Amino acid sequence: MGTEEIETENLNQQLLDLAYDLGMATDFQGALEILLDRLCALLPADGASIMWLEGDHLEVMAQRGPTAPLRGLTLPIGQVGAARSVLDGGRAIVVADTVRDARWQQIPGEEQVRSWLAAPLAVEETNLGLLEWTARESARFSQEDATTASRVAHYAAPALHRSQLLDDARRRLRDRMEPELATAHQTVDLRTELEPIVAEALEFTGALHAFLFLHDKDINRLRCVVASGSKRDQIGALALRGDGTLGGWSVPLGGIYNWPTAGLSDREMMGSIGLERTLILPLRAAGSPVGLLGVAEPRKGRAFGRDAIRLMTHLSSQASMVIERLQRHVTAPDSHDYKTVFHSSPLGVGLIAVSGELKLGNLALAALLSRSDRTLVGRNLTEFLVPSDGRRILRALEEVVITEQRRQVDVRLQSTSGEYRHVRVSLSLAEASEEPGGDTLVAIMEDITSLKILERERVDHLRQLREKHAQLEELDQLKSRFVSNVSHELRTPLAVIKLYATLTRKGRPEKQMHYLQTIEQETHRLETMVENILDLTRMDRQSLRVSPELLEAEEIIAQVLQVYEETAQKRAIELRNHVRGELPPLWADKNHLIQMLTNLVDNALKYTPRGGQVWVAAREIDVDSHQMLEIAVGDTGVGIEEDEQSKVFERFYRGSNNTSSSTGTGLGLAIVQELMLHHGGKVTLNSRTGEGSVFTLQFPLYDGGSPLAGAQEEDD
Ligand code: ADP
Repeated sequence: MGTEEIETENLNQQLLDLAYDLGMATDFQGALEILLDRLCALLPADGASIMWLEGDHLEVMAQRGPTAPLRGLTLPIGQVGAARSVLDGGRAIVVADTVRDARWQQIPGEEQVRSWLAAPLAVEETNLGLLEWTARESARFSQEDATTASRVAHYAAPALHRSQLLDDARRRLRDRMEPELATAHQTVDLRTELEPIVAEALEFTGALHAFLFLHDKDINRLRCVVASGSKRDQIGALALRGDGTLGGWSVPLGGIYNWPTAGLSDREMMGSIGLERTLILPLRAAGSPVGLLGVAEPRKGRAFGRDAIRLMTHLSSQASMVIERLQRHVTAPDSHDYKTVFHSSPLGVGLIAVSGELKLGNLALAALLSRSDRTLVGRNLTEFLVPSDGRRILRALEEVVITEQRRQVDVRLQSTSGEYRHVRVSLSLAEASEEPGGDTLVAIMEDITSLKILERERVDHLRQLREKHAQLEELDQLKSRFVSNVSHELRTPLAVIKLYATLTRKGRPEKQMHYLQTIEQETHRLETMVENILDLTRMDRQSLRVSPELLEAEEIIAQVLQVYEETAQKRAIELRNHVRGELPPLWADKNHLIQMLTNLVDNALKYTPRGGQVWVAAREIDVDSHQMLEIAVGDTGVGIEEDEQSKVFERFYRGSNNTSSSTGTGLGLAIVQELMLHHGGKVTLNSRTGEGSVFTLQFPLYDGGSPLAGAQEEDD
């Protein structure tokens, strides 16, 4: 797996995590926060934001980074950078340089944004809003980032939509329970919510007066709701003409009145109280004009500038939203409307007692529990659940009543088929009661079976990823050990060869033979080492060729021992062949057998001090009624520490019994083990420190046929 693949895997994992975590959010605000946290981590941005579409406005729901002051503003779509292109085109867009891009219209607060990336949030072709990333320098985002952005939006949109539905369902139920309360607070709410907007208009435009008028249908006049500045009371007493032209000013719908650039009318009334320069914007609710927001100055002079107009545009849309929201509250739907809305919610919504008894449920809830909504009332929720989950839900109901905190529980519905459907139940307190057990809770239920599948996939995916990482890490360690060992080991014979080559040229003539012999010997060592490395690489790539034939093992053992006779003599080690008579024919690769025996005998001589013994023995044995040929190479050498005995077969592992002068790569035994596996056999070790070691090769014996056919592999 290459780095690119790892990156893709990581991204996949992060997206799955994101979808999962968003799925766990209990409300819209919570979901926004989770998402915002991830946005900056996923792409190389300085900031990010989530914008939500409200009619033809985008509301900045959550924001971080250079444009953070924009949070909470509503912006007409046309004004928000290249937002319109993103929403219209339905795909992610990169603005590499805001200074040079024609689509870019900067709004106040965005001055630091030099490059921008946004992706639309949509569910079933319906635009919900957009995600944007910002950076202080140009060309920060690539086309690849745009693809990532689209994927993030793809995962985030349904989850945000879902959390909004949750909020919605809760609000609807609460609305139903407290309609009177809502009306009672209405007038107070309106003024308290609009006051800060008017105060901001005053503060940020630097004008001396700011005011907000609303249309009073009964008298067809615009009445002042909030005014600030020194002429507050006089403005407050004004009633402007309510003839559809906004107090007599001819302000077109969606337009702006900016005196002295506009015509005369009610401005004389303003003039009469000493206000001259005036900037007025319309307020709209549900598409029709409902009032105006304005700032004014007593002095004559230039009209208000562009910045003031922009700011007032934002403030007027904010005020419009407040008014629209509160109006919706007042005109509480009649009971029939309410019922339609209640039942049309895609989420299961119900009222439930602490005992679990259902008091009310909508159609979606009935469908979820496979009942009609009428037969639902009076039943206990626990009847529908797997028993242990029923007990959990009862505990959760009690906890919500005691703590007055929202709780979320995942439960399984009873099933006869064995395949459970998973349901997420969000519980919140609807109405506390004096009498014990009388409290009512709102339960919102949704089928999260697919989310559970996602969760399972995510865990699986995470596990696979971890395994891959572990494998890679291990490989990496092996590789670095390999490189350091190999370079060290190759350097030694190379240095010797170099030295003796020089001596051949310049040294004493009578020693020529000795020099050349040494060169030959070291070249041979190098060759073996390179061969060993290549062998292991081939084994790893499964491209080792095994060419088995019927062998007389005793012959090959004798051959190998003969090669080592001279070395043994020089080191005063007795080399013994204990093989007597004929052994059963062995079906094996001749070169491989020689290689294994050579490795073992070589080691035995290497790790046995002067005066010791090295021997080879062989016999036929019966293991679980399978005939095997055992070849053992033993020595009376230094032996191997017990805790190292399994490690010596690992690649590049060199035991603690090595002295600084003993040569080797730690590959010999690894090769023996691999080759034995290729022959369907195994190698075992028996050793005691200070006494010696015995390595035993066990080959399976076959009568007829070609048992290694399966193990035979293609050469590369
Ligand atoms: P090396 O090139 O180091 O000999 P091997 O893979 O052949 O690599 O062996 C791994 C380690 O096993 C050696 O470094 C040594 O510590 C230990 N070993 C192998 N054979 C013997 C033996 N006959 N006696 C003692 N130790 C041995």
